Amino acid sequence: MNPLEVVARTPKNNCRECGYPSCLAFGVAVTATGIDPRRCPYLNLEGLNIQAAGVNLEDAARLRDLALVEHLKGKVAGGDFATLAPRLGATWNGAAQVLAFAYLGQEVALGKDTILIDGREPEDPRDQILLYNYVHSGGGAPPSGPWLGLESLPNSISKVRTLATYCEEPLARLFTGQPHDLLIAAATLAGGTPTANPSATQTLIFPVLPRLPQQVIFWAEEPEDGFAARVKILFDQRVLDYLDIESLVFSGERLAERLTSLITGAA
Ligand code: SF4
Repeated sequence: MNPLEVVARTPKNNCRECGYPSCLAFGVAVTATGIDPRRCPYLNLEGLNIQAAGVNLEDAARLRDLALVEHLKGKVAGGDFATLAPRLGATWNGAAQVLAFAYLGQEVALGKDTILIDGREPEDPRDQILLYNYVHSGGGAPPSGPWLGLESLPNSISKVRTLATYCEEPLARLFTGQPHDLLIAAATLAGGTPTANPSATQTLIFPVLPRLPQQVIFWAEEPEDGFAARVKILFDQRVLDYLDIESLVFSGERLAERLTSLITGAA
């Protein structure tokens, strides 16, 4: 595969979300250095031979994530979890030597070496990265409002489209046409609660992590007026005290995946 073949799979808009100044520079990096092609969130991966650059890039990405997990474990290892617990909205279980807290309605037991989610080791290392990052933040003051869109947070512009692609747009499609009772039941299982908002079809607040609430606002489609269904995610203004932008966007992606799994599993 050559760089132009990679470029042909991009929207060619040089948006820089991949971290490269142009789609061509990205194509060169993929073919010459074997970086993960999924760094472009818009890349058409269909039929892509990711071995073409001589590297199994899926394995490379997973190894990179696992290395980051080990790095973060090392960073939190010296922390005093008992002191951290209230700052993270967690409970310290001294007998098991773990922090206990909820993650999208699931029970997390996070120790200095292991993480269990509902009693199982997470399959995706990105969950571990998110959870160790949350602990590494050191916690802080509880959420206080106001609610902000991602675009209002500092240094977030490159991630706005990613959040839309992997969280807001899938949720808008998921919520469309769902029976209200099923939607509320699934949201409850994911830790969410409905909240009043007369200007939207449905508004839910999810404590994705104890100090990381996310507000999901859904407007149903209005075909007569030409409006498509839409979801907007809002964050508390203190959210970056707890997570970096990348983990924050991943947490929104996980929220969408969890709701999808709960709703499609129950349908
Ligand atoms: S993220 Fe994709 S579309 Fe944007 S500059 Fe990089 S390669 Fe091009």
